[in-house]
Amino acid sequence: MPIYEYKCPQCDTKFEKMRPFSQSDAESPCPSCGTGGNRLVSMFASISKGTDGYSAPIGGGVPSCGSCSATSCSTCG
Ligand SMILES: [Zn+2]
Repeated sequence: MPIYEYKCPQCDTKFEKMRPFSQSDAESPCPSCGTGGNRLVSMFASISKGTDGYSAPIGGGVPSCGSCSATSCSTCG
């Protein structure tokens, strides 16, 4: 069973709760005041950076040789 992280909106207490995936979005009572805590969004679910359409060439160069995949070689000039 996966562990989810929750935060109490009342007292800002963070706590973890092990529960089935089907109940992951349900509120979980705060251990210190009993208020229903909201599940914190996992980090891996909100990563989306560098989506401005530009993709930098890896290794610093576009292959310029016509007949091979090297960036520069004596065969292709
Ligand atoms: Zn609380």
